[in-house]
Amino acid sequence: MNDINVDVLIIGAGPSGCVAASYLKNNGINCKVVEKNTFPRFVIGESLLPRCMDHFEETGLLDCLMEQGFEIKSGARFLKNDVVCNFDFGEKHTPGWDYTWQVPRAHFDHTLAKEIVKKGVDLSFGHEVIDVQFDPSAPPGDPLSTLGGIGNSVTTVKDENGNEYKINAKFIIDSSGYGRVLPRLLDLDMPSSLDANSAIFTHVKEPNRPEGVEGTIITFDVVKDDVWLWVIPFSNGNTSIGFVGPTEFIESFEGTNAEKMKEMLKTSDYYYDRLKDLEFLFEPYVIKNYSKAVKQLYGNGYALTGNSAEFLDPVFSSGVTFATESGLKAAKLITKELQGENVDWEEDYTEYIMKGVAVFRTYVKEWYTGNLQKIFFHRPENPVIKEQICAVLAGYVWDETNPFVKNHNRLVKTVAKVIDMENERV
Ligand SMILES: Cc1cc2nc3c(=O)[nH]c(=O)nc-3n(C[C@H](O)[C@H](O)[C@H](O)COP(=O)(O)OP(=O)(O)OC[C@H]3O[C@@H](n4cnc5c(N)ncnc54)[C@H](O)[C@@H]3O)c2cc1C
Repeated sequence: MNDINVDVLIIGAGPSGCVAASYLKNNGINCKVVEKNTFPRFVIGESLLPRCMDHFEETGLLDCLMEQGFEIKSGARFLKNDVVCNFDFGEKHTPGWDYTWQVPRAHFDHTLAKEIVKKGVDLSFGHEVIDVQFDPSAPPGDPLSTLGGIGNSVTTVKDENGNEYKINAKFIIDSSGYGRVLPRLLDLDMPSSLDANSAIFTHVKEPNRPEGVEGTIITFDVVKDDVWLWVIPFSNGNTSIGFVGPTEFIESFEGTNAEKMKEMLKTSDYYYDRLKDLEFLFEPYVIKNYSKAVKQLYGNGYALTGNSAEFLDPVFSSGVTFATESGLKAAKLITKELQGENVDWEEDYTEYIMKGVAVFRTYVKEWYTGNLQKIFFHRPENPVIKEQICAVLAGYVWDETNPFVKNHNRLVKTVAKVIDMENERV
């Protein structure tokens, strides 16, 4: 096959890659997407945040998703012992979307991918990126430098028949998710600052779900201080269930993954009876030590987006929203640059993305220290604090009018401390 020349190569057709491709196509940029799998394919990450609706809307991908009838997620329920904490996205500090969806990702991602193909994006399924070379003779071609922006690259792709071909690109958006193509090839990985946690998960068919909201509400059931169960009902009658906790906790169970999961279900007083006899639709997957971080989010000729960049923790369902936020941002910046404008990748990309990541990192850390759980499950609730935290949980983590965004580092700790003092007085 002859070499292909494009302005922008996108690696991976998950939400991050599709949002980026859709934006580029809408703006007349010559781009190509290569995706190593054929779709539909399973991937985890089924609870979305309202913020990502903005990204689908802005890139013209909302209507195709609206037609699918996904389960509406209008908030989230957290349970601990006998206390229930319900967040309602209609009651949040920051204006914006007050709902999103709970989605089987195979169906969701396939819908997005089909839509970008319909728009005319050149997407090759079953094509895997196996190597990327940045051209040192064409400055600024040093991929590890932090100048950012346009830089020539040659990518080797293997198609579904094992044939290799090359793609010459001025810019690569690496949206390869768990494939982490450029972090691996350029040695960009670095240890995450979060504790080593792992997850085990599967889907079940639920023919006899409880009636009404109880049957469809997304729930995070805290079964031990640092271990929780997710229950995510889909509109197709299946429900996603998964446990998250310290790696040693997940590893302490014996047997097959299905046997481990059956045993873990006993730790949930609330859900055990509902779930115990349901057949797993597939052998549960285990992902160990899932938190990921990188040394840099961009270099000459490339940007990392979505899970290929940072991944924190599933507890606040921020993964897809960061994937679409960063995919869209990278696409906007490279469009500007290809149109001759100057872009400051450090400020406009890294600083922007890491600002949002930092807010969620605080919330994840404080969830596992117990401080955030203290606030969630304290009674009586403070409605102002709740609305401010709710805006964070909806993904509006760039809104500095929200004290729980602006002062995220201090405020969670301070409020938890006040609750401690109150409890001591009683
Ligand atoms: C246990 C767990 C639970 C989670 N739960 C949630 C949740 O509830 N909500 C949420 O928002 N997020 C959740 N996440 C995070 C979520 O899975 C990711 O953040 C999200 O899928 C990232 O999207 P993406 O587009 O970056 O990558 P992906 O959706 O992973 O897509 C990347 C694509 O790149 C392709 N690819 C990989 N390598 C190559 C290659 N070499 N060549 C070509 N293509 C390639 C892959 O086949 C894939 O289709 C969870 C994560 C974990 C670990």
